[in-house]
Amino acid sequence: MTQKADIKFKREANRGSHEYDLACEVLDAGKICHVGFTQDDQTYVVPMACARMGDQLLIHGSVASRMVKNLTSGLNCCATMTHFDGLVYARSTFNSSMNYRSVMVFGVARLITDLDEKRKSVQVLVDHLMPGRRADLRASTVKELNATSLLALPIETFSTKIRTGPPEDTKSDLDARVCAGVVPLTQTAGEPVDAPNLLPDIKRPEYI
Ligand SMILES: Cc1cc2nc3c(=O)[nH]c(=O)nc-3n(C[C@H](O)[C@H](O)[C@H](O)COP(=O)(O)OP(=O)(O)OC[C@H]3O[C@@H](n4cnc5c(N)ncnc54)[C@H](O)[C@@H]3O)c2cc1C
Repeated sequence: MTQKADIKFKREANRGSHEYDLACEVLDAGKICHVGFTQDDQTYVVPMACARMGDQLLIHGSVASRMVKNLTSGLNCCATMTHFDGLVYARSTFNSSMNYRSVMVFGVARLITDLDEKRKSVQVLVDHLMPGRRADLRASTVKELNATSLLALPIETFSTKIRTGPPEDTKSDLDARVCAGVVPLTQTAGEPVDAPNLLPDIKRPEYI
């Protein structure tokens, strides 16, 4: 299937953008996306680790995964990345909202079969998930690479939507004696927990 997705914004179009650099910025700020596809009239949405490599979104999975089998058969998919940036509490339920950044990338993913490209893609993914880590790890074996599928979804048909700022209350609610505002939300890393079987003389590198 190759029909193009309808990426024209209809609702809250003022929050939407088709600007490439902005989409990349939002994609680069996250480490997981949700990949949706329909198989035999049933839609599946699968959370996956991802990273951008140039103008492609890399998605990786086991060769045995249903998603990989489907997507490599040329099925249309949509990968969505979402950042939940703030809880917007308005003076009414109706106007209560969320601040967010999200990107939807539509298209047909390509299976990366060339071993060199696959190796590079794994490195890009590792670098994105934990910058600095790659240099400390041994190279992936051919067996490991063969057990992993890497898909490249072109960032060609995409849309970005962003909401920022305070509640947008209706004028008639502004005199209500009820608190309104935004709780900003961020995702922060906690204190790392060393593996229980870590060799005793291993020091935790700075990048962790
Ligand atoms: C964290 C979060 C929470 C949200 N909560 C709600 C909610 O509770 N209720 C609600 O109605 N909406 C919510 N939204 C907005 C929602 O994602 C849709 O944008 C909105 O519902 C309009 O959908 P639609 O299909 O009518 O858009 P349309 O404007 O008809 O969509 C047309 C095209 O616009 C693009 N598009 C639409 N939405 C997005 C998006 N979020 N990101 C990137 N591209 C997009 C797609 O290409 C789509 O095909 C939320 C968004 C986020 C990120």
